[in-house]
Amino acid sequence: MTKNITEWLDKTAARFPEGLALHDEQEELTYQEYRIKALGIARSIIEKNIRHEPVIVYLEKGVNIPVSFFGIAYSGNFYSPVDTALPKARVSVMLSVLQPKLAITRRSLSWVLDDAGYRGERLFIEDICPAEDDEAVVASVLSGAGGEDLLYVLFTSGSTGIPKGVSITHRSVINYIEWADSVFSFTERDSFGNQAPFYFDNSILDIYCAAKSGATLYIIPKHLFAQPVPLLSYLKEHRITTIFWVPSALIVPAKLHAFRNVDLTSCLKRVLFCGEVMPARQLSLWRAYLPDVCYANLYGPTEITDACAYYIIDREFADYEPVPIGKPIRGVEMYLITEEDGKIRRVSKGASGEICVAGVCLSPGYYQNPEKTREVFVPNPFGSGLMYKTGDIGRYNARGELEYLSRKDFQIKHLGHRIELGEIETAADSVAGVSRSCALYDAVRHKIVLFAETGISSSFIEESLAHLLPAYMMPSKIIIMDEIPINCNGKIDRTLLQEYIT
Ligand code: AMP
Repeated sequence: MTKNITEWLDKTAARFPEGLALHDEQEELTYQEYRIKALGIARSIIEKNIRHEPVIVYLEKGVNIPVSFFGIAYSGNFYSPVDTALPKARVSVMLSVLQPKLAITRRSLSWVLDDAGYRGERLFIEDICPAEDDEAVVASVLSGAGGEDLLYVLFTSGSTGIPKGVSITHRSVINYIEWADSVFSFTERDSFGNQAPFYFDNSILDIYCAAKSGATLYIIPKHLFAQPVPLLSYLKEHRITTIFWVPSALIVPAKLHAFRNVDLTSCLKRVLFCGEVMPARQLSLWRAYLPDVCYANLYGPTEITDACAYYIIDREFADYEPVPIGKPIRGVEMYLITEEDGKIRRVSKGASGEICVAGVCLSPGYYQNPEKTREVFVPNPFGSGLMYKTGDIGRYNARGELEYLSRKDFQIKHLGHRIELGEIETAADSVAGVSRSCALYDAVRHKIVLFAETGISSSFIEESLAHLLPAYMMPSKIIIMDEIPINCNGKIDRTLLQEYIT
């Protein structure tokens, strides 16, 4: 039984040493090179006497990120990727949660960490140099490793303004990847076309299914996602067999009928999606052009290791029909619940309820945040251990397939990114001169709208927010008000404000 994800790289590098493992615009690595570089990183970490600690990876997207992830895992530590496009203030907050002793970065980027207040050690990726005894050094550390050891901490938006670090163990990733491999049967002849940023949970399937099966991971240049024809040409040129993208990324080539210019029938075999609702109409466009491809809707939040439910598309859907999220993956239990007076019960057949998840996929909790952990990881009244309350509302359809209906709170999905509107409000409220604010989502136009009660200009607020929030959280529109309306409970009248934008 696999206990540590590094076993996959060991086996694959032994089976396909010369097989192409990783490819980006600048660099390529074979499986042998991948493993040797990861072992070199591991030895450098072990020499610093760091064990069971978070190690941040601060690198631009490319082959060096998965290499660093494996290197950190080989060293008996766990990784946390920090996006180089984030504003300094947000990097600081993440660092304050993690308190990392080590960062893997490169010299040209390192000053940003200084500016964000990082005072720990650094390992520069350009200095990694393999040595003869790397393997022996790593083996001595990993002999005591167990499946319950953490593999990574990924950050998600937090409504209080502090992003939450979701920690995940080797065991959860092993269960998920073994399930994905058993359902989709990946081999060394496959090629993954990676869209998901490495700080986003969807990338887990790409990285680890590729490493387990010996497939190649092609890191698609980000700018191509705004150019549908060159994007599809890239897939064709590299003979990509599998894509696992957010629906927002799949919609662009479908809407613009880019398939008319590029024929992918001879290469593409699987189109998987996860992270937000896949509109049936867009799915039908893909299926019309590429009818022989296997399409699957995967569902799940970061807290349960990427996906806990799946549905392999097996029939036509009318444009207005929801595409089901299907049934739980192996080793996972899912319940639809309602709560009254603190009592949790399952909803009756056909009724909607909050989706709760239990099983080996569950995160041990938010890193260094027991309070937030207790709020959503609760004792499972229907089985043993804990269950995670997703905040998503679902329902079983007449065929017994689970459907996603909506959220029960202020969390949104915008261009595939999970965002707590409260985090945008916390940032706006922190701008001098803003007395209060309210962020809403215009789901029709796919825009975040911020209402601000203030005498200062919207351009000043925008400029201030750019220092606090990632680009994808920036409001598309800021509406200045003398006074934000309140409802009879004295709370911001969100319903009234919603009318302004619809
Ligand atoms: P994240 O933690 O960023 O992966 O976001 C998880 C959230 O994305 C879930 O709680 C859902 O609200 C939404 N989500 C994920 N997969 C799907 C799906 N297949 N259909 C609809 N919403 C989804």
